[in-house]
Amino acid sequence: MNFFITATDTDVGKTFVTAALLSAINQNGQRAIALKPVQTGCENTPNGKLVAPDVQQYRSVVAENDIPPCYAFRLPASPHYAAQLENQVIEIPKILSYIKQQSSDYDVTLIEGAGGIFVPLNQKETMLDLMIQCHYSVILVCPNILGVINSVLMSIETLHNHGLSIAALVLNFDDENDEIFCCNREYLQQHTDIPLITLPRFASADIQQAVPYLQKQLSHLFRQPENQWDTDFDRQHLWHPYTNALNPLPTYPVVSASNYHIYTTSGRLIDGMSSWWCAAQGYNNQALNQAAIKQLHQFSHIMFAGLTHQPAIELGKKLLQLLPDFSRVFYSDSGSVAVEVALKLALQYQQKIAVQKTKILTVLGGYHGDTLGAMSVCDPVDGMHFLFNGVLAQHIFAPRPTCRFDQEFDETCLAEIEQLFAQHQEEIAAVIIEPIVQGAGGMWFYHPKYLQHLRKLCNQYNALLIFDEIATGFGRTGKLFAYQHADVVPDIICVGKALTAGYMTLAATICQEHIAEVISQDNGVFMHGPTFMANPLACAVAAKNIELLQQGNWQQQVQRIENIMQAHLAPCKRLPETQDVRVLGAIGVVELKESVDIQTIQAFFVEKGVWIRPFGRLIYLMPPFIIADEDLIYLCQTIFQAISYQKYRRKSC
Ligand SMILES: *Cc1c(COP(=O)(O)O)cnc(C)c1O
Repeated sequence: MNFFITATDTDVGKTFVTAALLSAINQNGQRAIALKPVQTGCENTPNGKLVAPDVQQYRSVVAENDIPPCYAFRLPASPHYAAQLENQVIEIPKILSYIKQQSSDYDVTLIEGAGGIFVPLNQKETMLDLMIQCHYSVILVCPNILGVINSVLMSIETLHNHGLSIAALVLNFDDENDEIFCCNREYLQQHTDIPLITLPRFASADIQQAVPYLQKQLSHLFRQPENQWDTDFDRQHLWHPYTNALNPLPTYPVVSASNYHIYTTSGRLIDGMSSWWCAAQGYNNQALNQAAIKQLHQFSHIMFAGLTHQPAIELGKKLLQLLPDFSRVFYSDSGSVAVEVALKLALQYQQKIAVQKTKILTVLGGYHGDTLGAMSVCDPVDGMHFLFNGVLAQHIFAPRPTCRFDQEFDETCLAEIEQLFAQHQEEIAAVIIEPIVQGAGGMWFYHPKYLQHLRKLCNQYNALLIFDEIATGFGRTGKLFAYQHADVVPDIICVGKALTAGYMTLAATICQEHIAEVISQDNGVFMHGPTFMANPLACAVAAKNIELLQQGNWQQQVQRIENIMQAHLAPCKRLPETQDVRVLGAIGVVELKESVDIQTIQAFFVEKGVWIRPFGRLIYLMPPFIIADEDLIYLCQTIFQAISYQKYRRKSC
């Protein structure tokens, strides 16, 4: 159990409370440790060493608790400034590894902040960033003085808005006989649901006086959260993706996620999936949170018929900046719907130019979503067309593009699709394809020249070209959009998934001007309008996400991930169980010769502290772009272990 002790202000008794808690918890029989990662106002001893006053206080109650700060500075000032004077820069990763190293042998770790929540650590980060990255329950120390209600409520709101849970408020310098103090205490008790621990003002600074008070109230700190997980309900009533309802696979309960870590009820997992292509910036990103919160306080949703709003306009501008060949944006609520919209656009377009073209040409191994229209262009075998025989529209399938991304292009791979075009030219309204990377249909990377030929064929036969970039968009393949590997422009493009960085569901179908012109001739209208079209909350987050992408170094990040996966997935090639290893951008794939038993391999991965979710014969990685090198290497090594220890096979009993 770990706690982060912060306060509404400096000088309100935070160190006193930390030391008293340290003593109280130890006396209660648990092994506790207190750490002060950043200490300013240290003094020189005659032998030239720095003495950290707060550590002195811990030591005065628990003699062996004598661990120097990670950063100790002389000037009693804001840490960022005290560090600067000594030509140092405070780095959060260094603090995190210091905490990890020092606390490993203890039941309870108390981390004491410096000053309040927004105290700067360096030019970019504050104490709050450290608290978020530690992700410990917070103990908020506040003095019972005039103004405490205001400062406590502001602190609570900030902590909650940043996803931190508060274990207790410690109301310091309390006085039971003072009327104003009583009112403060009662008001806070009534207006927050956080346990309140009170400490009186003591005549002297002797920490031991506070210990009996705290011991009486310690249960507040270690109370179990009221909502125990009802995982039975989940198993009995909630459908998960592609799952048998009567005998579902196990699910792992997630408490929170931040950065590239997922916290389940039993521990921390390194995320290798970006939640199915979405969370490219990781979880709990402060700038994206802010964008959502800001919009939430304006309005979450408003109908898009007859009304418009700033988030939709802002996002539209940004999307068209990224996609300068396009000019019209249709927002919808999920990838599958964006595909439906693309197909309907193509069909309405062809109707308008007075041809009876109603077929879509696509390739085997594709995946475009789970609604009926989208399913009709998914791979007919993996997409389980047989389940919906007679309902799905019959479309035309060419072979999977066989020529690998990294091989010489061989034009013979086009023979069959050319033939299909010639044969069905009267019927083919459009071609839909995932450019460069076929995702859920097999994680297959094919040659950019294939798309160039496809563009020519579409031009020749007056068919529209639709690229489904729902998985590949926003940098995943090393280009902002996968089609940019091929230097061809489709008529219509679908984006989704990483559009909101995985925050909420939103998709867009974006087309060239001529599509809109043709459909709109003679007052024609495009016949689609989802209830949640252009949801402002989602648009606000997506606009901020694109802004971060434009400012950030996604290209270097993806290149770095590609290099690491190339190097560290390569050993899997040598294993006899492996069929193929391939890496493109931030996508790494190990294809096995036989299917994995998902339950067995999932349990192995979780035990190893990673989140990787294979399917079929494919174990693959598409980590958040912000993942650290060593953790990505660990993901690759864990895949190697799973294969070489046969952890993907069902245990025979
Ligand atoms: C995921 C996906 C879809 C479907 O998106 P949803 O949001 O799940 O409806 C469509 N096309 C591709 C390429 C995808 O990867």
